[in-house]
Amino acid sequence: MARIFCVANQKGGVGKTTTCVNLAAALQARRQRVLLVDLDPQGNATMGSGIDKRDLTRTVYQVLVGIADFAACRMRSPNGGYDLLPANRELAGAEVEMVSLERREHRLRDALAGVIDEYDFVLVDCPPSLSMLTLNGLCASHGVIIPMQCEYYALEGLSDLVNTIKKVHANLNAELKIIGLLRVMFDARITLQQQVSAQLESHFGAKVFEAVVPRNVRLAEAPSHGMPGVVFDPSAKGAKAYVAFAKEMIQRVKAL
Ligand code: ADP
Ligand code: MG
Repeated sequence: MARIFCVANQKGGVGKTTTCVNLAAALQARRQRVLLVDLDPQGNATMGSGIDKRDLTRTVYQVLVGIADFAACRMRSPNGGYDLLPANRELAGAEVEMVSLERREHRLRDALAGVIDEYDFVLVDCPPSLSMLTLNGLCASHGVIIPMQCEYYALEGLSDLVNTIKKVHANLNAELKIIGLLRVMFDARITLQQQVSAQLESHFGAKVFEAVVPRNVRLAEAPSHGMPGVVFDPSAKGAKAYVAFAKEMIQRVKAL
């Protein structure tokens, strides 16, 4: 049975999508069966997986509002090798439409229930908000992966996210836990980043992943080629960090 992880942080531009796409491809390369769910109307994980969001008529939107089956919307990332439940701007409508539907927080969980045996990992790329979509991601998951930049304001935002996770754990999904914090876009030359990184380690201990993803332009270039960074340039430092992260995830899952 798959372990389901959502990659969440209500801030935009912190590396959620980059983490999802690269972790999915790196896990797939280690012979894990992977599904990536794009839960952001921006559709960046879809594009980064090599699928043009503008061409799609069936996406995660149809699955969430109950007008299409998962199987009819699932695709395969041509370069990543993993399965993808894609998204595009149509998904923005789901936010409002789901409010009046039954089991509105559990729509994704219910949709995944039938396919969970087909995968080892399901990764959910959340939008940059603590919205109904993110709530669906949290309710469907066994755990949360939190990518973060080591900046002062990152810590402030973290407490809001941790509180939301606690509430979801208490009220909607007792299985949910924080799997770990992933330091991304890290620049060891910047003293503040080192300080925040040390603070994270002392406060969250083993919840901080050992893998650290450096700031690396090859990771940023990869999406324009419709490829995960780990496929686009496996020799780049950023790609190597995501491969190390994938290995760490496989180990953590064994311990769950
Ligand atoms: P989010 O999904 O949280 O909004 P993204 O993964 O889209 O964040 O990342 C935001 C921007 O930063 C993107 O342009 C992405 O290519 C770039 N980026 C992400 N991680 C790195 C990194 N480690 N090094 C350099 N650029 C990165
Ligand atoms: Mg994103």
